Amino acid sequence: MSYHSIFGRAFVAGELRDGVLITIADQQIIDVRDAVHAPSGSYVADGVIVPGFVDVHVHGGAGADFMDGSRDAVAAVTRFHAGEGTTSLAATTLSASREHLHQAVSAIARASRAGATGAQICGVHLEGPYISIARAGAQDVASIRPADIFELSALLAEAPHLRWMMTVAPEIDGVRALIEHFRDRILFSIGHTAADYAGCVAALEWGASHFTHLFNAMTGLDHRRPGAVGAALTSIEATAELIADGVHVHPAVLRMVALTMPHRVALITDAVRACGMPDGKYKLYEHEITVADGAARLNDGTLAGSVLTMRQAVQNMVELAGLPLELVIPLATEVPARILGVADRKGKIAPGYDADLVVLTERFEVSATYLRGAMLSS
Ligand SMILES: [Zn+2]
Repeated sequence: MSYHSIFGRAFVAGELRDGVLITIADQQIIDVRDAVHAPSGSYVADGVIVPGFVDVHVHGGAGADFMDGSRDAVAAVTRFHAGEGTTSLAATTLSASREHLHQAVSAIARASRAGATGAQICGVHLEGPYISIARAGAQDVASIRPADIFELSALLAEAPHLRWMMTVAPEIDGVRALIEHFRDRILFSIGHTAADYAGCVAALEWGASHFTHLFNAMTGLDHRRPGAVGAALTSIEATAELIADGVHVHPAVLRMVALTMPHRVALITDAVRACGMPDGKYKLYEHEITVADGAARLNDGTLAGSVLTMRQAVQNMVELAGLPLELVIPLATEVPARILGVADRKGKIAPGYDADLVVLTERFEVSATYLRGAMLSS
């Protein structure tokens, strides 16, 4: 067994503490304790040590997209986001033809088995195609279709070893039966939906338990029509994603949601292939998008995913939304790990957990990423 240790200020048991010594053996954290000095040979962190970020909704980055359906594309995305502090993710697809969706899922499954050098693929997130045309956002309208249990079964069979999430609109034909059939196997998320408050509450009763990018591509919060957003806020257990880029949701609303449902919010990137690339024109499935001023849009101005990274999302929650770092870190780690069903080994710095760690500088730059005990080389 090879042992090594990391020393410095760290986020442990819900608080930031100075002088923490984290000992790693192979891929796991085996000990976390207070120490006065760094023992010789330990890595002294240049910044605060936090659990590696878990992104449950990410499409691409560094010029590649999970929809490209190739091992190389999957490797490029996972490698890029690891450099931005993401150590685990759910590879996220778009509404696409049966053939393209199958290709994408099978490439994700193959890459996850091979275990590349980047962020670990813990799950698949199917965003569509059983969603609302009226709330399609940048999804390909021609690929949107009624729910199909057989199609979903075939996709699941490609990657039975992974966790599965699926964004669905409750009002679409067959979605209720789909949720009731797969609820123990798949985490269903309400999103890209025109359903009202009552429609979303009903979907939660059928077995849905999550909301995809809260506020975006769903019915909003009005005091007489609480909408999908109201259903999320008033739920006891359902979780919700937030795109904290300062464009998709106003910083004041980011703050409001984080304070209202602090144990139920997961920061996501919803990043597309343009993330980490220069401004310009890129492809999003069958559409062309333009990236400028920190936003990706279709030609009609509709937001088309984001160019956000997890480290930037954390920074924005602190600097734009004015929240303390101690409150923000769990939203990027512990909560999404729970959503993804990996909270027994991801999302915390504690003995028995995977040694997935990120060192964040004062300016929220990633100075080191540890992926199951191995430091990512830059
Ligand atoms: Zn998305």
